[in-house]
Amino acid sequence: MADQLPLHPGLFSWPSKRPELLGSRCLECGEHAFPSQDSCRACGSEQTEIVGLGHSGTLWTWTVQSFMPKSPYLTDETPETFRPYGVGYVELPCGLKVESRLRENSPDSLAIGLDMELEIIPVRCNDEGTQLMTFQFCAAEVS
Ligand SMILES: [Zn+2]
Repeated sequence: MADQLPLHPGLFSWPSKRPELLGSRCLECGEHAFPSQDSCRACGSEQTEIVGLGHSGTLWTWTVQSFMPKSPYLTDETPETFRPYGVGYVELPCGLKVESRLRENSPDSLAIGLDMELEIIPVRCNDEGTQLMTFQFCAAEVS
C-alpha cells in the first residue's frame, strides 16, 4: 500500500520528479479548466482532454489567512498548532488563474507578479496512516 496518496486524485501529476497541475483543454476552442471539466464552460463542447498545466506561474493576487480553514479543508491542525498561511491566485502560462494555498505566510514575502512554483505537501494522515498530499505554490528560487 502506498504511504502517500493525493487528497483529491486528478489535480496534479504525482508522484513525479516535477509534479504539475492537471486540467482540461477544450478540443473545439482551446479553453483550459482547472480542475478538469468534461465539458467546456466557454463553448459547451464535450470534447475535452486532460493536459498538464505546468508547475509554475505568477502570483496574481494573494492574502494571508489567519484563521483555521473550514471543512472540507480538514487538516491535523488545531487552534494551538495553527499558523497563518498565504492563499492566492496563481496565473498559469495558459492564462488560467488557480486558487492555491501558498507556502509564504507573511506580507513581506509575497508580491503581485512574483514567480511561483508548484510543490506537493502533506495535509494529514487518513485512518490507515496514509499521508494525504495536496498542492500549494511557493515563491520560485531566485537564481
Ligand atoms: Zn470550448
